[in-house]
Amino acid sequence: MLKKILDILSRGARFVRDNPQIIYTIFLAIAIPAAFLYTSERFLRVAAKQQDKLERNRITLLQDAFAVFIAERLNDGAYLEARINDLLKDNETITLFYVVVAEEGGGYRMVAPVPPNDAAARYTPDILTETLMNQKPGISYASQFVALDGRHWRAVRPIAATAYTPAAYIITDISMAQADAVARKNIRDAYLILAVIVVLIIILLARQARIIDYATLYARLKEVDRMKDDFVSMAAHELRSPLTVIRGYVNMIEGDTTVREESRKYLKLIDHFAQQLNSLITDILDVAKLQEGRMSFTLKPLDVSELITDVVESFRKPAADKGLQMVYEKMSLPLIVVDPDRFRQVMINLVGNAVKYTRRGEVRVITSATSDTLTIRVSDTGLGISAEDQKKLFQKFYRVKSAETAEITGTGLGLWITAEIIKTMKGTIQVESIKGKGTDFIVSFPIAK
Ligand code: ADP
Repeated sequence: MLKKILDILSRGARFVRDNPQIIYTIFLAIAIPAAFLYTSERFLRVAAKQQDKLERNRITLLQDAFAVFIAERLNDGAYLEARINDLLKDNETITLFYVVVAEEGGGYRMVAPVPPNDAAARYTPDILTETLMNQKPGISYASQFVALDGRHWRAVRPIAATAYTPAAYIITDISMAQADAVARKNIRDAYLILAVIVVLIIILLARQARIIDYATLYARLKEVDRMKDDFVSMAAHELRSPLTVIRGYVNMIEGDTTVREESRKYLKLIDHFAQQLNSLITDILDVAKLQEGRMSFTLKPLDVSELITDVVESFRKPAADKGLQMVYEKMSLPLIVVDPDRFRQVMINLVGNAVKYTRRGEVRVITSATSDTLTIRVSDTGLGISAEDQKKLFQKFYRVKSAETAEITGTGLGLWITAEIIKTMKGTIQVESIKGKGTDFIVSFPIAK
């Protein structure tokens, strides 16, 4: 039994952990009604207390005034009764009003009982009244008691004896039944509102349950997405080794002098495509590393002019093959904090793209610096990129689709990787381009302090 309960509890805890949104649901279902209940209870309690106090004050004030008023006419029963009846007309909650006079031989006589109660008969106080009567004269004393019709205040106002009058008492009951009925109605209303709130919350929760379904689905989708990423990076990794072996053998056969010229052409093609496959795999692995934060960065202050020169020089030959000019005026630059290998990768991507997407003209790398920023502009006179395409350029796998780009191979990953690397090294990248005229990629880094 206990094991079963523990099992259910631990399953519940696991469910809450896996679906933290449920906490919001529980909060809604419990906290709001509880808060409402607490405030209304508190409010009603305070209101009831206040009402009690008010009634008590009212009756004692009334008695005080009445005492002053009748002090000299205590022996005139008819007069007193008429005054009491006047008074009760406006005070419906007063259920009893006696004036009682102490007799010389002990005991009490009623002079003006309302409602009538064997007028002039002897009065025998009950315990509560007697306790109240035994107080000092001069002020009212009140105490609560419960009768069949609900709560009452009983108040007694002793009047001191004078040379002309004996000691007397004003005894009054005031019913709290009306006030209590109002309070009960308020409580009923509060519970009614609470019930409405609970129903509303249940409706909300029913909808919330669908949200939880969506959340679970979203979590599963994310899991599948992660599995896909894992699979892709694992597959890419595994593809790389056989590819290296293929390229190794191709190089070996190329070195063989007996190979026919015709076959040599095919070998070149094989090597070209193997190389293309290799860079695709490298890109995919880079994407995985960046997404999982596994790409390592060894940051240090660096004058990058040497690195830029290396990259520009490495593209001079492919550019010249296409009839393009490579221009870079090297000058010493203020230091920026970057990882040299990653910075080289950024430059290779940008200069490589510039050469790749330019048919005629030139590719130019221009550096400039202000007191706090170093800017490197890679500018070409190539295909250009429309404003529409510029917006999506840095998305993963995005490639501009046009007749001109159709024959140029690529993955659409280079710019995403470039932008991510730059971001990690606290730099920024922007693009300026006019379709058909050329493109500038502008990379900026803060200067090392
Ligand atoms: P890839 O070059 O492998 O397709 P990139 O992410 O490097 O992927 O570039 C994305 C797209 O941006 C390219 O397909 C190309 O259409 C466009 N692009 C990038 N650089 C240039 C450039 N210098 N001139 C014109 N288009 C460019």
